[in-house]
Amino acid sequence: MTRTILLTGGAGFIGSAMVAALAVRGDKVVVLDKLTYAGHRQNIDGIKGTVELVVGDIADGALVTALFAKHAFNAVIHAAAESHVDNSISGSTPFIQTNILGTHMLLEAARNAPRTHDFRFIQVSTDEVYGALGDKGVFTRDTLMQPNSPYAASKASADHLARSWFRTYGLPTIITRCCNNYGPRQHPEKLIPRMIINALKGEKLPVYGEGKQIREWIHADDHARGVLAALDRGVPGEVYHLGSGEEMRNLALVTLLCDLLAKERPGRDYHALITHVADRLGHDYRYALDIESSHRALGFKPSVAFEQGLKDTLRWYLANDAWVETMVNYKGERRAA
Ligand code: NAD
Repeated sequence: MTRTILLTGGAGFIGSAMVAALAVRGDKVVVLDKLTYAGHRQNIDGIKGTVELVVGDIADGALVTALFAKHAFNAVIHAAAESHVDNSISGSTPFIQTNILGTHMLLEAARNAPRTHDFRFIQVSTDEVYGALGDKGVFTRDTLMQPNSPYAASKASADHLARSWFRTYGLPTIITRCCNNYGPRQHPEKLIPRMIINALKGEKLPVYGEGKQIREWIHADDHARGVLAALDRGVPGEVYHLGSGEEMRNLALVTLLCDLLAKERPGRDYHALITHVADRLGHDYRYALDIESSHRALGFKPSVAFEQGLKDTLRWYLANDAWVETMVNYKGERRAA
């Protein structure tokens, strides 16, 4: 039976991987995306399947309510967000509006709409809600949320709302928390694309502080698969961790990218471009997720090996300079009146 899924943020980086994963299994996908500077219709243009793009804001109550009235959604996958930590430090307002108020609007619309018996609301979230770790240990699903950046605090707020809409109203929400993502179509503002783009132009590769921070990396296609596993097999009211166990210090990651670039595009000393800059305010030292119980419960295992995935991602950026050019100059699309 064809299922109809409302996917918010589907024109962004991870959202577009989710559109592809849903479309390939025959689901009908209604993408609700504001097309901010981070979301572009070119990210989903070529995807085969039943995909409808609605350009609009998740915080627009009339629009969201009308969408729920028009479609009998089997699920909402809520991936729309303001997603860049640095932007949240320089200006937090859009993070509060989209990540908190927007999530509230969606939860309310879902609560008030007629729903199929198998309806699920997936709140796509992040390991950053937990705060920071030292060299040892992992975040478990019972770890207290102690978010440090405005971005992380806004995502933690949204997670609290999703949990409470389950506990109070019985809306079948499921929260997924994923580690750092990489892959094709990631916005040039983010670490990996930024390093690739700068390196190709012979520009400095700015590494925050000493680059000692540690992140866990997963391919966006694996994140999408994990979210679909949570949609299919997750239990309402639960939290699931999606991760890879692939931890790396930021400086080691940038160095590895330089090694890969030297093989793919020889002729420049990429390593010499690495420059240490003032550290990000409140920069979390390390994130790492306890993934075993979640992956077991969902029957999920990431399939992309980190170094191969990184090489493929690099090759994608090398082959798609027109995409990069478009995104660098793009300021977002205004919603049609
Ligand atoms: P992104 O910035 O690439 O894409 C976000 C998308 O949301 C864009 O298409 C944008 O236009 C859309 N959007 C923003 N505000 C909107 C609004 N008010 N209404 C409708 N659409 C709006 O982000 P991403 O990296 O693809 O992240 C997707 C989701 O995954 C987010 O919820 C993020 O918190 C979560 N996440 C990301 C990572 C990561 O490493 N990137 C890790 C864990 C979780």
